[in-house]
Amino acid sequence: MSAFSNEPDHFLNWCKSENKVKIPKDELPGKFLSRNLYGKYLDEIFKDALEQKSALINFEIIREEVIDIEKSGEQYVVHSNSGKKITANKVALATGNHPPAHPPLANKNFVDSPRYFANPWQENAVSNTEPNETILIIGTGLTMVDAVLGLTEKQFQGKIIALSPNGYNILAHKKHHPQRNILDELAPPFDLTNLFRLFYKHVRDARLRGESGETVVDAVRSHTQIIWQQLSLEDKKRFMAHVRHLWGVARHRLPSEIHKQIQEMIAQNNLQVLAGRINEITVSLNNLIVDISLRGGNKIQTLKVQRIINCTGPLTDISKFQSPLYANLLTKKIIRPDEMKLGIDATADGRIIDHVGNESKSIFTLGSLLKGKLWESTAIPELRKQAERVAELLLNNN
Ligand SMILES: Cc1cc2nc3c(=O)[nH]c(=O)nc-3n(C[C@H](O)[C@H](O)[C@H](O)COP(=O)(O)OP(=O)(O)OC[C@H]3O[C@@H](n4cnc5c(N)ncnc54)[C@H](O)[C@@H]3O)c2cc1C
Repeated sequence: MSAFSNEPDHFLNWCKSENKVKIPKDELPGKFLSRNLYGKYLDEIFKDALEQKSALINFEIIREEVIDIEKSGEQYVVHSNSGKKITANKVALATGNHPPAHPPLANKNFVDSPRYFANPWQENAVSNTEPNETILIIGTGLTMVDAVLGLTEKQFQGKIIALSPNGYNILAHKKHHPQRNILDELAPPFDLTNLFRLFYKHVRDARLRGESGETVVDAVRSHTQIIWQQLSLEDKKRFMAHVRHLWGVARHRLPSEIHKQIQEMIAQNNLQVLAGRINEITVSLNNLIVDISLRGGNKIQTLKVQRIINCTGPLTDISKFQSPLYANLLTKKIIRPDEMKLGIDATADGRIIDHVGNESKSIFTLGSLLKGKLWESTAIPELRKQAERVAELLLNNN
């Protein structure tokens, strides 16, 4: 979680300095620390960096929404929602994750219900609950866990039901070493069928050695971007349709303390994980009625819930974003979706590719918006490298 790719222990050393954390120093490596602390770390090093360069850099944060960007000769004019206009030589789009898409149901009346929370990252999704509410969380990934923890922190006492097509349980991080044997056989050209066979073999071998299968996924983490870029479009589509969820389970795991807390909630029936698909959500006076086809049969379950939190993961198709900025950038043909509709079409180092395929030297992107190009473009180890590359592009005058 260090902010600097060339100093992997920077965050660890920051935590050790001045006793920032009440954990014995020798136990710190490998511990999961709070996001609050991580926020303080980023804030502190950012302020320090600005202070050191204050003679060279004029830095200003404007807390407004950007609603449009237009090209004006070699420059860009950036428009904010208050009517402010900023002229820039270079622009970086770093807008992060977009809230999830609504469940694709024919009857969309539920979208306007105050009982439906479309953005799981907004605090209101987990606050002001009634004591005995039943809450349906759509999605069973890490955002679901975040929502459950948020509700628990706010002393929610009612029942939580989490639903996804497969109802996969989230795994815990265990103390183990990545099983690197797979790397000896991982060579281009890459195709999904052979990769699947190779993974299957190494997961089986790892299990025979008493290790878990996730150790194989950990071993290839730093290679996934290269593999993804070399897969054919057809293979990428097959991966998204058939392997993505399983990959996500192995790749995105929980700190063991949190995993234990979630398992206890399941054992006490405070949290129930269902596998199935929603057919319909009907709005009634005090409830949302949810019709679900359970997985593996023709069984229908009807739930009466008082709140639904959409935790299905960020929407990635930029043409569907509810955002004036993205609508305008698409209309002006400054950006286009990548071939998988996972973000913005761009080069691997973040140069945006316009509607006719030209790579820009002045408008860049990074983070979740580069998922189409890199797939693995979510967490700090990738983001810090991308930020360094985009910083170089911003400074480069060619
Ligand atoms: C709930 C959650 C938990 C995560 N936990 C971890 C973790 O533990 N470890 C890890 O490595 N990664 C984690 N990630 C992934 C990743 O590290 C974070 O998503 C990270 O904050 C991404 O940084 P970012 O700068 O790309 O985007 P963000 O931090 O989302 O920043 C985007 C910024 O752009 C602004 N913005 C958006 N649109 C506009 C606009 N039109 N005009 C002006 N401003 C705009 C937003 O307000 C925001 O300030 C997590 C992600 C989520 C969603």
